[in-house]
Amino acid sequence: MSNLYDVIIAGGGPVGLFLACELAMADVSVLVLEREPEPNSPSKVGLSGMRALNTASMDAFYRRGLLDKVTPPIKRPLNFQEKPGFQFAGQFAGIWLNANRLDLKRFKYRIPGPSLDISLNPVSIAGIEAVLAPRAESLGATILRGKNVTGVSQDEDAVTVEVGDEEFHAKWLVGCDGGRSTVRKAAGFEFVGTEPTFTGYAVQADIDQPDKLKIGFHPTEDGMYVMMRAGNFHLLDFDGGFFDRTQNVTAAHIQDVLGRVTGTDVKITKLHHASSFTDRCKQAARYRNGRVLLAGDAAHIHSPLGGQGLNLGLGDAVNLGWKLAATVRDSRTRYGPVVDLSLLDTYEQERRPFAAWVLEWTRTQVTVLKPGPHGAALRQLMSDLVDTDDGHNLFLGRIWGLSQRHDLGDAHPLVGASAPDFEFSDGSRLGPKLEGARGLLVDFSDGAALEKLAEGYKARVDYVGGVGARDQLGLSALLVRPDGIVAWVAEGSLDIEGAKAALMRWF
Ligand SMILES: Cc1cc2nc3c(=O)[nH]c(=O)nc-3n(C[C@H](O)[C@H](O)[C@H](O)COP(=O)(O)OP(=O)(O)OC[C@H]3O[C@@H](n4cnc5c(N)ncnc54)[C@H](O)[C@@H]3O)c2cc1C
Repeated sequence: MSNLYDVIIAGGGPVGLFLACELAMADVSVLVLEREPEPNSPSKVGLSGMRALNTASMDAFYRRGLLDKVTPPIKRPLNFQEKPGFQFAGQFAGIWLNANRLDLKRFKYRIPGPSLDISLNPVSIAGIEAVLAPRAESLGATILRGKNVTGVSQDEDAVTVEVGDEEFHAKWLVGCDGGRSTVRKAAGFEFVGTEPTFTGYAVQADIDQPDKLKIGFHPTEDGMYVMMRAGNFHLLDFDGGFFDRTQNVTAAHIQDVLGRVTGTDVKITKLHHASSFTDRCKQAARYRNGRVLLAGDAAHIHSPLGGQGLNLGLGDAVNLGWKLAATVRDSRTRYGPVVDLSLLDTYEQERRPFAAWVLEWTRTQVTVLKPGPHGAALRQLMSDLVDTDDGHNLFLGRIWGLSQRHDLGDAHPLVGASAPDFEFSDGSRLGPKLEGARGLLVDFSDGAALEKLAEGYKARVDYVGGVGARDQLGLSALLVRPDGIVAWVAEGSLDIEGAKAALMRWF
């Protein structure tokens, strides 16, 4: 048997690479097998590769010290209309949201900080990968390019990954190989959901009358067009999803769809690149099958409406990384193949409901965009609702992940949510204290009880005490997991038994 890795990751896209960093940082041996021989494929660079990061993703990069590298400061965030008081903050079925209407008071546990920027500041997939790939390698991961995973088999002890005639072996395999995942199919995961109603196209082309197509998101009688800038646009064609996506997308086909969807006579003079997508909406029934796990688009697919897929996948990676690393470490100290899976299985329990929600969120938008009078009537109603302060903040909260919370029980509204980015009396903030992907016990109280308790967990949890914060939000202590999720909270008097139980559960 060749080298036995702890973990093989199939797919070196943004999710696979983020996961590789999380695992390598925790001293886990990692091999990434990526199909493309070179980075920077056309659909990952420039405007075609542009993706909007929500606050959950921004938190994840911020907490690992990568935010400035992934989102370098730009002069002006992307805006689609020069209107006083308007700053584009995303859209729902083509209904635009304004960052200036965010009322942060409604999100009690969100403290303004470096990762809380909801004006659209998109990054390219190639740009994210260019940060994550060298980081993963510098942390000890091996990345092999030009390796198309073709088969998977497993037994009680290990997984074998086939790349043509070659074989690679690991204790665990994570399929991060995108929406058409080979790992998902080869390892027998059930993939359930709904079939598409439209075909979408991401296009780079020269066109003859750019002024006829307005910048921004525009639902039409036959679908929607999204103009990023002249020559870079997306088209949504409600064709029943019947376009055969295995064929090349030709200029003649895009011309036909462009005319139909926009209702204009704009002509394509040169097609540079076109790729297709649909609103096929499916989710793996399980995220783990024996020693094989799924993350990112491999675990869930849906239309890109509302820009959630990458954010969802990065959330999978940050949730899975420390849990899989702990499981690998735990198995090193046990005799035989028996592994304690209780922590690892919380990955599926916590992340499947999020993906289910995103699937629903995109399905709603498809319904609202449906051509014809029924869709138009619903669109008008949604538009009126979004135009209210309550509606605007509900949609901003959901799209930007401000109201995201994992279901870790009802002990406190903050448990299961992202930790507030407290600014402490010495000027430091909570976020960067998670850079090493360890747990964090923050103690605002005067006593020594928590400090003593933390001593027993110092291999995996850092203790931060004697730190006032400008606003403690009424908390006297909190325990934060390596993924930045709050695991336990005390308000008023310290519940030491509660802290003990949370430490035992997660560490
Ligand atoms: C037009 C469009 C706009 C979008 N906008 C947004 C947005 O604004 N915000 C957002 O959050 N999301 C957005 N998304 C979704 C987002 O791009 C995806 O959800 C995200 O790229 C998923 O990341 P991933 O790493 O899971 O998969 P991918 O990005 O698909 O990466 C998978 C990797 O695996 C490799 N691979 C595939 N098969 C194999 C194999 N057999 N062996 C080895 N390697 C393999 C691929 O080469 C690739 O590098 C958009 C999608 C589209 C189409």
